[in-house]
Amino acid sequence: MADRILIVEDEQKLARFVELELTHEGYEVDKAFDGRSGFEMAQSGKYDLILLDVMLPGMSGMELLRRLRKSSDIPVIMVTARDAVMDKVTGLDMGADDYITKPFEIEEVLARIRAALRKRACVALKEEKQVCGKLVLDTARRSVEYDGNAIVLTNREFELLQVLMENRSIVLSRDKLLERVWGYDYMGETNVVDVYIRYLRAKIDDMFGVKLIHTVRGVGYVLRESQ
Ligand code: CA
Repeated sequence: MADRILIVEDEQKLARFVELELTHEGYEVDKAFDGRSGFEMAQSGKYDLILLDVMLPGMSGMELLRRLRKSSDIPVIMVTARDAVMDKVTGLDMGADDYITKPFEIEEVLARIRAALRKRACVALKEEKQVCGKLVLDTARRSVEYDGNAIVLTNREFELLQVLMENRSIVLSRDKLLERVWGYDYMGETNVVDVYIRYLRAKIDDMFGVKLIHTVRGVGYVLRESQ
């Protein structure tokens, strides 16, 4: 599937020119000509990268980025005026992945886009999937599968399994699990961990006839492939 790029740029001729070049390279492209509609579109989650002009009517590119970063880590390349050093620094501080100064060569834009998308691909592979044998937990899709079979978990079960998988082969105490999954200020029964471990075992170990979730007597629990 083609990567989708959103161009937020109020100079419509420039936006159109970049759109044509990106389309020619095989990207799918949408445009927004002001900050507010750009923000609306950026939030939709259907883009892989945003090319974001700093000086925009409605809402500045900086403000758009600041708001967007509360809920999204989509790659953003800022487009700043030449010599606007403050813009570059502020943009990077606020979570932009890269910046380009105007006027730019289109080849430079294409190279920066390719680099940002490549970086995203590595991060996605590293962070979005946890694997232990045939058990796969996908944090982006919030799904769990064993050998291709979907496992339906409640939110709490998912979070507990996620912590176990992120720390696979490491023994985690009940207190640690309680803190990570239920939070510091949890006031309920401490055996809630044991209860949820039972739920997970029923849905994974018992269901598929494997032994992944192990009790370490007097210490806690660990997720590993055998023993
Ligand atoms: Ca502008």
